[in-house]
Amino acid sequence: MPKYDLHSHSTYSDGLLTPDAVVRRAALRGVDVFALTDHDDTGGLAEASAAAQDAGITLIPGAELSVSWESHTVHVIALRIDAANPTLAAGLAGIRSGRDARARRMADALADAGIPGAYEGARKYVTSDRLISRTHFARFLVEAGHAKETKDVFRKFLTPGKPGYVKHVWATLPNAVDWIHAAGGFAVIAHPGRYKVSPTGMRRLLGEFRDAGGDGIEVLSPSHTPAQFAEYGTLARVFGLAASCGSDYHGPGEGWLDLGDLPDMPAGITPQTHD
Ligand code: AMP
Ligand code: MN
Ligand code: MN
Ligand code: MN
Repeated sequence: MPKYDLHSHSTYSDGLLTPDAVVRRAALRGVDVFALTDHDDTGGLAEASAAAQDAGITLIPGAELSVSWESHTVHVIALRIDAANPTLAAGLAGIRSGRDARARRMADALADAGIPGAYEGARKYVTSDRLISRTHFARFLVEAGHAKETKDVFRKFLTPGKPGYVKHVWATLPNAVDWIHAAGGFAVIAHPGRYKVSPTGMRRLLGEFRDAGGDGIEVLSPSHTPAQFAEYGTLARVFGLAASCGSDYHGPGEGWLDLGDLPDMPAGITPQTHD
């Protein structure tokens, strides 16, 4: 059975490694089929593809789309997309275009909370001029001594109800699925265990996603506990969605799961492959 890792980030969004470096690290760590899925951007895929060819692994071109669903932000992983597809490219450009204004509003909110200069501070950590994210603010806030590590920054400043959080409207769920399908790809709900929804809310989300044509759900994710691997494995089966897996790798020292370190799928759940 080949080793899959279908969720990761590079310097084209909020990862620390270049696409070339992240692909080479995946290959060294025994990954056979690897997806680069930068937030709202496909700019790193050409470099990743060349590196994968060189390293002898299979690259699945991907992206992670930011979506607003009810009052929540939900991430949808696109897999095996044609990044040149104009519908998808326009959709992603639309999502990205809101990010800078959002970042300025976040900086204003942080300034009101007594932390000035956060926009300029976050910018120092930005590695693609097309994309600024909360992660870049988190790295700045750690540097400025407001928290020990990024995890604490999110808890103290960057999540709903906290001083640096601002509401933002991303793409709709059906739009995201349609753009991904227009580009020939598969749409997968990322890390469902992260969303603060009730069990009924989760079923509503998965039902709407499936009705919109969604294809899969991440079962194995570092955001999930072993109990959630089983829970989302069962939901995948109930909703007729494929089971996916990804480390959501952002770079050395970020998160707790390295590339290729995913556990096995829960018993009875066979990952669906589309090769
Ligand atoms: P954004 O798309 O700008 O809202 O940023 C979302 C990114 O922030 C995610 O992809 C993660 O990389 C990071 N993130 C979100 N929540 C946390 C958390 N609790 N701890 C660490 N990083 C987080
Ligand atoms: Mn991220
Ligand atoms: Mn995500
Ligand atoms: Mn991610």
